[in-house]
Amino acid sequence: MALLVYKFGGTSVGSTERIRAVADKVKKAHDLGDQIVVVLSAMSGETNRLIALAKDMQEIPTEREMDVLISTGEQVTVALLTMALHALGCEAISYTGAQVKILTDSSFTKARIREIEDAKLRADLNDGKVVVVAGFQGIDELGNITTLGRGGSDTTAVAIAAALKADECHIYTDVDGVYTTDPRVEPKARRLDHITFEEMLEMASLGSKVLQIRSVEFAGKYNVALRVLSSFKEGCGTLITYEDTQMESALISGIAFNRDEAKLTITGVPDLPGVAFKILGPIADANIEVDMIVQNIADDATTDFTFTVHRNDYQRALGLLEQTCADLGARKVTGDDTIVKVSIVGVGMRSHAGIASTMFKTLAEEGINIRMIGTSEIKISVVVDEKYLELAVRALHAAFELDKIKA
Ligand code: ASP
Ligand code: MG
Repeated sequence: MALLVYKFGGTSVGSTERIRAVADKVKKAHDLGDQIVVVLSAMSGETNRLIALAKDMQEIPTEREMDVLISTGEQVTVALLTMALHALGCEAISYTGAQVKILTDSSFTKARIREIEDAKLRADLNDGKVVVVAGFQGIDELGNITTLGRGGSDTTAVAIAAALKADECHIYTDVDGVYTTDPRVEPKARRLDHITFEEMLEMASLGSKVLQIRSVEFAGKYNVALRVLSSFKEGCGTLITYEDTQMESALISGIAFNRDEAKLTITGVPDLPGVAFKILGPIADANIEVDMIVQNIADDATTDFTFTVHRNDYQRALGLLEQTCADLGARKVTGDDTIVKVSIVGVGMRSHAGIASTMFKTLAEEGINIRMIGTSEIKISVVVDEKYLELAVRALHAAFELDKIKA
């Protein structure tokens, strides 16, 4: 007998029909003797609909009221699923986050979970009930309703799995696992049977939006085995765990990319202590997140400095940098918001040399110019012109033989 946490996303509970299908699936697992906690998202589109309603009332509603409003979507689905289970003769009970209780801090719309009271959940499970919990929400110490940020139901599921020391946390979604890259860009992309938390974090933060990043961090921290599977298709999905030394790991697990980047360069900056701070300080003060940073020395005691930001922040960053350029007496500022970042990710990189050169050779053979390079222990990223994105991803996918990974 296993204790499992199942999480179903918005599309999986997008209609009463689909909720009934979820009920069937849950009942089957329950009939086999497993203890099951189900965590649900709101019906697909519902959270966006609620946010639009709020905007119609007031331009900038308070975050507290936002949370009272947007937490309602999940209350609807947990009640409906529980009714569907009852209709199948399966004992079940629903709880909102506050009823559980899922205690969070008071950062409305992006609260963090502090503690989960597990007594009620355990008692119900021991009574043979399926427990259905509203994702995405909690309650703070003062009794205010809070939410965990968009996509937060994933985090609820992982946190409950950690609190109950569940055997596995299954994230049912509309894809059947984590892929070597986005199949819309490379149709030969393969589903991975297994990926490590570290790799998943890199893939997720690089734009493969399968799971809320925070849920992966949480799962890694509490060692919750996470499995991503399709709610519509049979299959064992992708298991995300710690590195398994028994496993023959591929050199590279996947290729991630991010289309939302823009780069800015300031050249001819006097090469003095504090320059990086003077350039990036105003950017940080404006709450603009910086991704890659490259600084180089020229031979005339000046330096060139390039960094990337989200495209939405490009114009603002450009304005700030021009101001800095004048203040520092630097030569000039240039920028480009038609670039993308492509990264290869894999723990296999740690123990193998030559991966970077394979990557660069592959891009060279396609005539793709690399504009920036960044590395970490398990990833190599390059910035290239956006028109080369598809070509780069496909060429790298083939070069690292990702189409041959056995799923
Ligand atoms: N319903 C929330 C959202 O749309 C939470 C979730 O689905 O995970 O972001
Ligand atoms: Mg989601």
